[in-house]
Formats: sequence, structure tokens, C-alpha cells
Amino acid sequence: CGIVGVVGDRQAVDFIVQGLRRLEYRGYDSAGIAALDPGDAEISVCKTAGRIDNLASRLAKQHIVGATGIGHTRWATHGPATETNAHPHVGQGGEVVLVHNGVIENYAKLKETLIARGYEFATETDSEVIAHLLEECRRRRLADAKPGAVPTDQQLIDIVQDALAQLRGTYGLAILFKQRPELIVAARLGSPLVVGVADDVHYLASDASPLAGFTDKIVYLADHQIALLKADSLQVRHRDHGAIEHSVEVIEIDA
Ligand code: GLU
Repeated sequence: CGIVGVVGDRQAVDFIVQGLRRLEYRGYDSAGIAALDPGDAEISVCKTAGRIDNLASRLAKQHIVGATGIGHTRWATHGPATETNAHPHVGQGGEVVLVHNGVIENYAKLKETLIARGYEFATETDSEVIAHLLEECRRRRLADAKPGAVPTDQQLIDIVQDALAQLRGTYGLAILFKQRPELIVAARLGSPLVVGVADDVHYLASDASPLAGFTDKIVYLADHQIALLKADSLQVRHRDHGAIEHSVEVIEIDA
């Protein structure tokens, strides 16, 4: 139901938890967070059923750091509001992690295909198919890459486009790739997302309220847009038509 992300902030986890609290008014049944730093052996994930307070107290014990992070409040549509079904969802192999708002209408068919290809599902959500689908598209796009080669921005965009082209339904997505710990890929169709622009930090959220006090410079993403957020840059593309100019609006945000 709500998405928060940040890249370029040493206190990413603190910002995300605070941002998720500001999105509580939208309603939710569970919450989670993922964070990543360069050199990390894996993407750290923490999620809980119930209130943000549960997540915050879990985070107090399970110390997570990272300058890049994404968070989610879930309003379950597919699968009960359990800890397992809470987002983020990890693609098989741990290279891709995402949070998703919306509903994937063709998830059952996609799930069947992915299971036949050897993907193991951990949750009952529609969203988990996107994580494994991204992993499948990642493997295909990088099949000829040298072992350990880091995917380029263009390769990541191709991977995400390949996956999105197979989805029917609605999505606001925030995606982390372990091989590119300095960026977040965001995409939307029918589920709102805004980017906040600040000095050497970019923020992502499903509405502007988490950004109050952090920045008043906002880029509204439109349907079919994909954004690449890095600490010091923002690229916005149309899913089918390549790079597009984005305009930064200065707004007053009520926390
Ligand atoms: N359909 C997804 C789920 O049930 C996402 C729900 C949401 O937007 O929070 O997990």
C-alpha cells in the first residue's frame, strides 16, 4: 500500500521507518524494509506482520545498515497478512529484491511458468512472481556476461522492461539489485510514485508526505515510466520510448 526508498543516505533505515510511519494513514497490515551497501554479501531484509512499531523493535535487534534502502507497508490482496507474505520479496538467488504496490492479475500463470523453470516460491503473494521474473530476465540478459561482470544501467533497464512487459495489472515498484548497490530502479503503472531530489540524495515514495522536512523538490512519475535513482542523479525513461526529460516541481509538503 505504501512505498518509501532512499539512496545516498547513511541513515537510510531511519528515514525509511519514519517515512513508513507517515504513510500509515493509508492503512496497512504488515511492513518491511531492505537495505544494501557496496560490498554486502547479501541484501539485508527485515519484515514483520502488524504495526510499524513491530518492525522498529525488530530493527533495534537486527541491526541493518545501508545507504540504499526500500520499505513497504502492505495491504494484502493475495495471501494473508503474515510475516512471510510481507514485502520485500527476494528473487531466487538473492540478486534482486523488491517492494510492490498493486495487483498482478496474471500472477498465477507466471508463477506456474516460473515453477516449471525451477523457481521456488516462499509466499502466497502475487508480488513474489515479479521478484523471480526479474531474476529470470536478469539471467537471460546477462547470460553472455563474464562471471562477476557488473550490469550496466542500460542492462538493468532492459531487465526491468523485459519483466514489466510480461505483467498484467498495476504496480508501483522499487527494486534493488545486489550487483548495483548504489541505485534503486522504480517503475509505475496505475500506482503512484514520486521522487524527491536533494543534495546527493534521492528519495522515493508513493506520495510526498514521507519527504516533508527532507526536500521540497519533487518529480512525479507517470504511468509507464521507469526511474533510475542514484545519490547524485535521476534518470527517467518511458517504458517503450527511451529517456525523457523530467521536470522538478517545488511544492509545500505537509507532514
Ligand atoms: N498485491 C500485493 C500483496 O498482496 C501488494 C499489496 C499492496 O499494494 O500493499 O502483497
